[in-house]
Amino acid sequence: MMKLNIQNTFINELPADENIENSIRQVDNACFSFVNPTKTKAPQLLHVVKEVADEIGLTEKDIQSEDFLNIFTGNEIYPETKPFAMAYAGHQFGNWAVQLGDGRAIALFEVMYNSKQWMLQLKGAGKTPYSRRGDGLAVLRSSIREHLCSEAMFYLGVPTTRSLSLALTGDDVLRDVMYNGNAAYEKGAVVCRMAPSFIRFGNFELFAAKNDVKNLQILADYTIKHHFPEIKAEGKEKYIAFFKTITNTTKEMILHWQRVGFVHGVMNTDNMSVHGITIDYGPYGWLEDYNPNWTPNTTDAENRRYRFGNQPNIALWNLLQLANALYPLIEDVKPLEIILEAYSNEFQEDFYKMMSTKLGFENLKENDASIIDQLLAVLKETETDMTIFYRNLSTISKTDSPEQALEKINTAFYKIEEVKERVEETWLYWFTQYLNRLQEEEISDEQRKVKMNLVNPKYVLRNYMAQLAIDAADKEDYSLIDELYTLLQNPYDEQPKMEKWFAKRPDWARVKIGCSMLSCSS
Ligand code: AMP
Ligand code: MG
Repeated sequence: MMKLNIQNTFINELPADENIENSIRQVDNACFSFVNPTKTKAPQLLHVVKEVADEIGLTEKDIQSEDFLNIFTGNEIYPETKPFAMAYAGHQFGNWAVQLGDGRAIALFEVMYNSKQWMLQLKGAGKTPYSRRGDGLAVLRSSIREHLCSEAMFYLGVPTTRSLSLALTGDDVLRDVMYNGNAAYEKGAVVCRMAPSFIRFGNFELFAAKNDVKNLQILADYTIKHHFPEIKAEGKEKYIAFFKTITNTTKEMILHWQRVGFVHGVMNTDNMSVHGITIDYGPYGWLEDYNPNWTPNTTDAENRRYRFGNQPNIALWNLLQLANALYPLIEDVKPLEIILEAYSNEFQEDFYKMMSTKLGFENLKENDASIIDQLLAVLKETETDMTIFYRNLSTISKTDSPEQALEKINTAFYKIEEVKERVEETWLYWFTQYLNRLQEEEISDEQRKVKMNLVNPKYVLRNYMAQLAIDAADKEDYSLIDELYTLLQNPYDEQPKMEKWFAKRPDWARVKIGCSMLSCSS
């Protein structure tokens, strides 16, 4: 048996559901319920991330073992551990949703390695008391998307859960992908994901909504003790500091999303981690053409609540729900209001700083906000590929004319004729200002390029790329999963042999299900 330094702090220190049946039910006075994963018919590992295994001290030999396959597909339980599902509530699409909980996620255990605590959780391992109308299972397509994207985000430098492994279960799962009465069987899969913990805003909302201040405090104290040890204050100051820290890390996470063009798609409060890490990869998407109104989630198509440009506001709205949930421990509105107000101001400031790094400015100068605003306005005038635009921007030289500069980024345009007809003048005007601004920079073109390429990725998991890996995997060809994984481990490197992935979205993917349109069905 592989050796893991098991910690059972969550189940040992937090109140358990006393009912140990596996029935779907309301759970009170508890942070979690014990539940065993459902055994699967024919488990088969498709991809294991060695670097993630390293994080918990597992070796290549461990990965190859039968135990690894069985444990991380839910077919065997690691000695001295007791799997569990967490209780939480949340606001979904702005509405209060009462009890949700881990409906198809089962935490296996916690591990301490190199002074870091990890919780390991299977997604798609069967029913729990919180499964409501669901089957507790996950399909291959959504599991590939979670597995690849969480690792891609990690290598982009975006705070995220990690993914240890992706496996087929051998069971078939019935899904109606577009919710239009066309249900069909798909291959079942399980992902084992890792994070310091999977505690969400919704875990606190659950107790606050029930006026269960005792358990609210137990959960807050536990979370601070194990995950926010830097907080030394006591009494209400402790919970204020806790909220302040979560506000800051959430802000940092959203800044990264805006930097790389990631759209989460379901920013419900139950999908917000208290660690400020990206969690629950569902109908997420990547901006291809820069469009702040775009949402990948078909359930959100009408109101576009979770559109790219609204993510900073939604994060604030979600933080407000967390503030309300923590209020009984603080009983003072003022400090919470101050923190929330600071979020908006600081976000604005940090956003321009982040954008200035994308544009290659050493420091943010007075007029830069205007240059940035004008850029964001012209970028969306015609379909312009966000990733290609920023990446190619670094090739511009201080001595270029505006026309030469425009020429260098024009592969980012989806319809060059439209640019010529409608926005060429605007672009040339923008490049005139940009080139003037570059004259104020002291570093050389070459140095600026190196710096810009550290914040403007060349390769992201474009929606159609994940779909190609899914289509191939459906035909039992898993090579593209490996190829994309390797590519996305170095998203800022040139990787000339992989240039085919530095390309605009192909036309076939423009309105294809799974590429530009995703449902929550997973
Ligand atoms: P999500 O939109 O994936 O964040 O899920 C919202 C809630 O629905 C969470 O409580 C999930 O655990 C639950 N859920 C989603 N899919 C399933 C499923 N197939 N079976 C049971 N619960 C599910
Ligand atoms: Mg979720």
